[in-house]
Parts: sequence; C-alpha cells; structure tokens
Amino acid sequence: MDKTSSEYTRKRNFDVTSEPKEEALRGRSKKAVGALRFVIQKHDARNLHYDFRLELDGTLKSWAVPKGPSLDPQDKRLAIHVEDHPLSYAAFEGRIPRGQYGAGDVIVWDQGIWQPHDDPLKAYASGKLKFSLVGEKLSGDWTLVRTRLKGSGDKDHWLLIKERDELARPSSEYSIVEAQPQSVITGALLARVKANPRDPKPDGPIPDVFKPQLATWVSEPPSGDWLYEIKFDGYRILARIKCAAVRLYTRNGHDWTEKMPLQVKAIEALELQDSWLDG
Ligand code: MN
Repeated sequence: MDKTSSEYTRKRNFDVTSEPKEEALRGRSKKAVGALRFVIQKHDARNLHYDFRLELDGTLKSWAVPKGPSLDPQDKRLAIHVEDHPLSYAAFEGRIPRGQYGAGDVIVWDQGIWQPHDDPLKAYASGKLKFSLVGEKLSGDWTLVRTRLKGSGDKDHWLLIKERDELARPSSEYSIVEAQPQSVITGALLARVKANPRDPKPDGPIPDVFKPQLATWVSEPPSGDWLYEIKFDGYRILARIKCAAVRLYTRNGHDWTEKMPLQVKAIEALELQDSWLDG
C-alpha cells in the first residue's frame, strides 16, 4: 500500500467505484482565487447521512451529519469530522458498488458557495467556523464547532448549528431534509426503488393495463397552495416493468415499445421492480 497516498485514496478501489480519483496536482488549486464551494451529499450507506463538505486549502473538508442540517438554531446537529475529499468529489452522484467503502447511493442534496466570516484556515484549526452559505437549499449564517461529547472516544465530533437570522425556522414548523429530499442536480430521490433480492415482494401482480389520469378544463385555479408545470409538446408514454421486461404504451393503450427502443433501454437500466411509470 502506498503510504504517501491520502486516506481518501487508500479506502477506495478505483477499478470498481465510479467515484473520482484524487487530482494528480493536489495543491495547484490552493492558489485558485474566487468563491469557495460547498456541497452536501446525501449518502444512503449502511446508515443514511449527509456529507457536508467545505472547500478549503485545495480540498473538501468533510463532516458526516447523520440527521442532516436543520434550520432551527436550537438543533445542534452532530457532524463527525471525516477525511478530506478531492474537489472533484463535489459533483459526484451515483452508486458506490456493494463491497466498496461507503457502498450505497449518493445524490448532491445541496451545493453553492460558502463565505467564512474569519480567516478560514485559522478558524478551522481552532475548531470553530462561522460562515454564510449561498446554496440552492441552505442560505444564511451557520456555525460548525468542535465539541467534546462524552463517549466520543477518538472521533472528532463537531456540531452544525444554524445561526439566528431571517432564514431560521423552528423545527416544529419545517424540516428542510423532509420537505426537500431531492437532488439539486437531477431532482432524483434516494428512494431505494431499485431491485434488491432482499426486498420484500410487492403485494400481488401489477395490472396489465393502466389508465392514466388526464387533465381536465377548469375555469379557475384551485384554492390553496399549488404548483403548475409547463406543458411540453410530445408523447405521454406509460411504461410497464414486469419481470425486468419493459413495454411502452400510449395513453390509449397502443403498444409503442418497438418505436422507442432507446427509452426502453434507459428504463431497463434502472433495474426497477414490477411497476408502471407515467411520463
Ligand atoms: Mn458518506
């Protein structure tokens, strides 16, 4: 084993995982000027957690936050300091194969820039970072502070805390990890929908035909909170996945599987259990 390689590299087999290799010229980006990036990756490993990463000193300083961030300043979220990750890791989404370190799915839950309030290297070394985030989900002022919790052993435990500002919200009213579970890159969820031989079989067989709900004319928008989506011109297609075989149907039930081989392949690659998709 190469003793000069980083903990990040030592833990991974890059012949197997699609995670990025460390940059060959580590340090070059230390001289880079401009905004410092942050990313939060939701990681469905043995235990679901959120990897909070701040660009600093040419690398991504990293903490694993089991519960994820909270907008409530009273919530002090445990953040376990872990090894640095290469800057290119910030764009990683995908599946870390079974048997590999951190096996499981990863999505980019939030990304943006962070602005340290003090000299960030000194603040990081002293164990108390105060900063602002400008992300797609998280904004405003935050603190990461090192703590000495009982029973933490040699683990480097920190706390992630939302500072009081106009973006703070009580947890009784709003949970950002529940309200916004999706990837900011693809909109994907970590839904554990992919076929796993250990998953229980769904109840009963899926129907052979499926009638989709259709839009209807109304004279006024509905009351209450609602969203709209732009109508794209195109084909509404229903996909039936049964025993891994994919068939495509129009909304009137015509079989269009042969007309759309690319879409069939793409859906097959998702390895879904028996189900209907409407899109
Ligand atoms: Mn992780």
